[in-house]
Amino acid sequence: MDLGLRGKTAIVCASSKGLGRGCAEALAEAGVDLVLNARTEGPLAETAGQIAETYGVNVQHVACDITTEEGRAEVLAKLPNPDILVTNAGGPPPGMWSDWEIADFEAALHANMLTPIMLMKAVLPGMIDRGWGRVVNITSQSVKAPIPVLGLSNSARAGLTGYVAGTARQVAQHGVNINNLLPGIHATDRAIALDSGVVKAEGITMEEAKTRREATIPARRYGTSEEFGATCAFLCSQQAAFIVGQNILHDGGGVNATI
Ligand code: NAP
Repeated sequence: MDLGLRGKTAIVCASSKGLGRGCAEALAEAGVDLVLNARTEGPLAETAGQIAETYGVNVQHVACDITTEEGRAEVLAKLPNPDILVTNAGGPPPGMWSDWEIADFEAALHANMLTPIMLMKAVLPGMIDRGWGRVVNITSQSVKAPIPVLGLSNSARAGLTGYVAGTARQVAQHGVNINNLLPGIHATDRAIALDSGVVKAEGITMEEAKTRREATIPARRYGTSEEFGATCAFLCSQQAAFIVGQNILHDGGGVNATI
């Protein structure tokens, strides 16, 4: 399917690997020129080079922490008026409700709520002026079904979801669509980190932790970054123009809910 995106431009945050990279690759395949971001220059430059070579699009990169004001300014300076914005950042660490202090919540809120909100605030006016724009926020299935050990993530992402629910409906009349894409478990470094936590807590092997988690997913496997990226690219497509303010689960059926 031609997604109608050839020649568009996109900022894809936190995209040297994992789900962000999956989104970047799928957009590049659709002909979108990219600005990629991650904190570590080496792997980021390598990813940018590989994507440019594979898909023949223009790929710039900015190594910085997207959860800081300076980092966001650097990324936006490279591409102040993107047609597409994909927000993403690392997820907060797991723990217990009794562990977390205000500073822990502040870090999670900055990374997973205020950063995407501030990026949207920066790019939405240009999208509205041009009468076309797409924003996809990578959040989590924990928005629909809380993951108890990820209380910091549950809290911050719920805040972002509330913001998007209202804002998406204010900008849709200008041809600007904001949606959230909610990953369940995917085979990325984040999944390895989460499984490692289970290994440590329960004294089992990585293989056992993975098998145990897979058994809880109707698809009986972890998702891939490629599948996730393809869904993101579709949400950015011309064909998805009537999808507004939605929270799309990409979880192999993991969230057990009728709606
Ligand atoms: P990942 O494989 O660990 O990749 C994270 C990417 O983000 C890397 O490119 C990393 O590069 C970059 N990054 C992290 N923090 C950053 C920051 N502050 N500024 C800029 N770049 C940053 O993680 P993932 O699995 O793709 O997860 C992406 C998001 O989806 C996370 O928020 C995660 O919590 C959420 N999620 C993932 C899953 C899953 O199963 N994978 C499930 C639910 C939710 P650098 O380290 O070099 O910065």
